[in-house]
Amino acid sequence: MNRRNLLSLMITTAAGTALAPGLSLAKTTAPLGAAAAKKAGRRAIAWRNWSGSQECFPQMRKAPGSVAELQELISSATGCVRPVGAGHSFMPLVPTDDTIVSLSRISGVVSHDDASKQAVIRAGTKLADIGGPLGERGQSMINMPDIDEQSLAGALGTATHGTGATLGCLPDFVEGIQLVTAKGDVIDCDRQNNSDIFDAARVNLGALGVLTEVRLQNMPRYSLKRETTWHPIEEILENAESMADNNRNYEFIYVPFSGMGFTDVHNFTNEPASTTGKIDPNDGSETLKQVRDWLSWSPKIRELALSSVAKGIEKEVVIANSWENYASERNVRFNEMEYHVPREHGIKAFREVRAMVEKNFPEVFFPFEFRYVKSDDIWLSPFYGRECCSIAVHRYFSEDYKPMFKAVEAIFKKYHGRPHWGKINTMNRSELAANYERWHDFSAVRETLDPGGKFLNPYLKTLFSKV
Ligand SMILES: Cc1cc2nc3c(=O)[nH]c(=O)nc-3n(C[C@H](O)[C@H](O)[C@H](O)COP(=O)(O)OP(=O)(O)OC[C@H]3O[C@@H](n4cnc5c(N)ncnc54)[C@H](O)[C@@H]3O)c2cc1C
Repeated sequence: MNRRNLLSLMITTAAGTALAPGLSLAKTTAPLGAAAAKKAGRRAIAWRNWSGSQECFPQMRKAPGSVAELQELISSATGCVRPVGAGHSFMPLVPTDDTIVSLSRISGVVSHDDASKQAVIRAGTKLADIGGPLGERGQSMINMPDIDEQSLAGALGTATHGTGATLGCLPDFVEGIQLVTAKGDVIDCDRQNNSDIFDAARVNLGALGVLTEVRLQNMPRYSLKRETTWHPIEEILENAESMADNNRNYEFIYVPFSGMGFTDVHNFTNEPASTTGKIDPNDGSETLKQVRDWLSWSPKIRELALSSVAKGIEKEVVIANSWENYASERNVRFNEMEYHVPREHGIKAFREVRAMVEKNFPEVFFPFEFRYVKSDDIWLSPFYGRECCSIAVHRYFSEDYKPMFKAVEAIFKKYHGRPHWGKINTMNRSELAANYERWHDFSAVRETLDPGGKFLNPYLKTLFSKV
């Protein structure tokens, strides 16, 4: 083990890389399996999500090239239609035996307005493909998550967020939406027109229709200075609240069984682009797992080994255009649970999660991530009406995540957490309804737009179906 390897895994797993989907684990829906699909005369070609934890064998996969084609596809479909983005959600939001529709061909920036700093962007655009074209128009997205592989509509669908105590989740930057409904109609909505649909559609789980265009509130183009620094976890926890208040984007990552973590801070800068101390994230990404394999029999020696390496890691500073400086690569696949707890409970909940995992789950080696997100007024946003801390735990993709996630989820629920819609959780309809004061408003809009349930797959039926 060397310092380079350890850092690379800590950073790549905690902050950043997409690999091609592969293994199939822990299915939570019941679409047709390969054998059943074949028997039913279907081609047994699987769709899988990024981590491989979700799988289905859809009868059709479509990527329409225009809104008119999409309208025709939806209005003529007889079974379930599920929109898909980049397949980066861990929950069974996409799987169906019928039709999966991707907007990968409906992408790009449509128009922009210099005065308002707003831009209309096609819903299938990958986040990574928004920054450059917006930058050429003098605009930047206000905030971004820690990867940029997602499609714009996919990211909005689950309330994807970055970090920053004064910054909302991505849907909070949306000022207008166009979507195609179950009947094939095109609806435009914003704060003035169809405002109830707008309030429901900003975070929608793909349950209202297929988004085709989004009007985003941006800001003048900017650069960021990103600094990552290693500290003992106790020091991080003592300073987290003031760091969150005094930096534009602040988060921390904790490496379990090491006593060490790093803070990841972004602030505006006019300094020229540069990189200091950056380590190749593709280097040695299995190292934390190896340390776990060798040393999990002795937590003390494991902590000593990990912390002595972490203490020697130099500060990393990257100055770059905003859109190039939020996301990191993820070289290792995992499954993830993330809950958003009220800010006042964040540090306490984190301490409890850490103590519980380090007592009961010596096999865990993936870092925990802790972020801040501002409150908003979006009906199904987990940040609705409250400032939040988002706490995420991960398990290596081929390991059984259920026992640990169950134990962690109990702590999150105790602190009134709401789950990330795209990440693993077991909240059922009645728990969700109790946690979201606008749940019934959302359900009513959904029922009006799609009374026949065309967009409901087995999982979404458990949340919204009337029967
Ligand atoms: C490595 C990794 C890192 C991540 N980092 C973050 C992070 O920093 N912050 C965070 O909050 N989350 C993060 N996530 C979670 C991720 O951002 C969300 O799960 C997001 O929804 C995935 O977007 P996607 O394009 O892959 O959409 P998918 O997962 O394919 O779909 C998500 C939802 O959007 C719907 N949808 C897709 N396209 C449309 C459309 N055109 N119209 C209507 N509905 C649509 C789908 O039906 C589904 O309900 C991460 C996930 C991974 C795997």
